[in-house]
Amino acid sequence: MSVHVIDEANRCLGCANPRCRENGCPIHTNIPKMIKLFKENQMMEAAEMLFANNPLSMVCSLVCNHESQCEGNCVRGIKGEPVHISSIENYISDSCFERLELKPAPSNGMKAAVIGAGPAGITIAIILALKGYSITVFETHDKIGGILRYGIPEFRLPKSILDRYYKKMRELGIKFRPNFSIGGSTGIQDLLNDGYKSVFIGTGAWRPRKLGVPGETFGNVFYAINYLNNPDVYELGDKVAIIGAGNAAMDVARTAIRHGSKEVVVYVRGEEVSASKSEFEYAKVDGVKFEYKKQIVRILDEGPVFLDTETGEETLVPADSVIIAISQVPQDRIVTHEKDLKLNEKGNLYTNESGETSLPGVFASGDVVTGAKTVVAAVAVSKQIAEDMDRYMREL
Ligand SMILES: Cc1cc2nc3c(=O)[nH]c(=O)nc-3n(C[C@H](O)[C@H](O)[C@H](O)COP(=O)(O)OP(=O)(O)OC[C@H]3O[C@@H](n4cnc5c(N)ncnc54)[C@H](O)[C@@H]3O)c2cc1C
Repeated sequence: MSVHVIDEANRCLGCANPRCRENGCPIHTNIPKMIKLFKENQMMEAAEMLFANNPLSMVCSLVCNHESQCEGNCVRGIKGEPVHISSIENYISDSCFERLELKPAPSNGMKAAVIGAGPAGITIAIILALKGYSITVFETHDKIGGILRYGIPEFRLPKSILDRYYKKMRELGIKFRPNFSIGGSTGIQDLLNDGYKSVFIGTGAWRPRKLGVPGETFGNVFYAINYLNNPDVYELGDKVAIIGAGNAAMDVARTAIRHGSKEVVVYVRGEEVSASKSEFEYAKVDGVKFEYKKQIVRILDEGPVFLDTETGEETLVPADSVIIAISQVPQDRIVTHEKDLKLNEKGNLYTNESGETSLPGVFASGDVVTGAKTVVAAVAVSKQIAEDMDRYMREL
């Protein structure tokens, strides 16, 4: 094991005002209690507490931006190295996951539908199943996970974790309809007509944001979200130019290198990348190169043309492939189908403070509401919306 979790746990000061939890963790994981239970050999209790607070604890322990969240707020980090909280959480939630005894409440006879099996949908499905609802999850892809499976690469988040979640969810009695999109032959009204008391929309943000430059439709140009969906089917060639400098761009670059591309360069418009420090550092270690102050002007069959914002010069950079990684926005399949679903001022799905959309009984959260964000943000808000859905259905 690369990090010795027992040593790390022993370094925790057990602060009376734990900044790691209060300031650092978007879902307020009780980190001091987790570490205390772990040190007292009560790991199952720690795992149960973690799961109850955040059903995706195992995932978050791997993919959250710990350096700016829990670990970034650890008092130990002021003068030295922060406690490696994520490794402790991962050790606990991973080793106890199969042994978690989830005890659903007796059936309350009500059905709820969940559209989308990403972090938001998984959270809602688990919480409502535990409250005694009969849950059916509708998912466009063949497997659960959303971006966790079809976006974040295997080397950062093993897909076997999502298979374990699927098993756990089946044990809770959750039903799945894979390879099935809502908004085509079947709409939300069909679900309500069939007796689902409430519907949850957690369809994420899968429409690539466009650059809006000439050449974007050429055969040598791809979008990050499409490439990461299944990198094996792409032949990028030796030289790959990546436009965008966030975490998705780092995932694309590191994946392209692992698939054999020899010269992978990220072109950054400003002077700094927007990716987290650790993702940036890993990309450099993997051999990714960075060019700064390069603004894309157009894309040719031979490669992208950049304006150097310092010198004002335009240059063609020869490349076999160009990948655009400048974020995603929600697809509008459901919205187009359901004319009564309103959008918010950002063009995402509108919800009120209880997570209810403009259609009564239809709730939503995650990226489809907020635009591209994070796993922990999707889980944190979905936790609250599961409670709102429960209240709504009980009051019917
Ligand atoms: C490349 C990349 C890397 C990322 N890395 C990180 C990271 O390291 N850490 C982090 O915290 N966040 C990361 N994120 C962001 C994070 O993954 C998302 O914020 C999170 O997955 C949002 O969860 P969600 O449930 O709202 O949506 P999604 O994960 O997008 O899931 C939505 C699901 O709905 C399904 N769906 C869509 N339309 C329909 C329909 N009509 N009918 C049925 N099903 C439908 C989709 O197939 C999908 O399975 C990353 C994002 C990307 C793109």
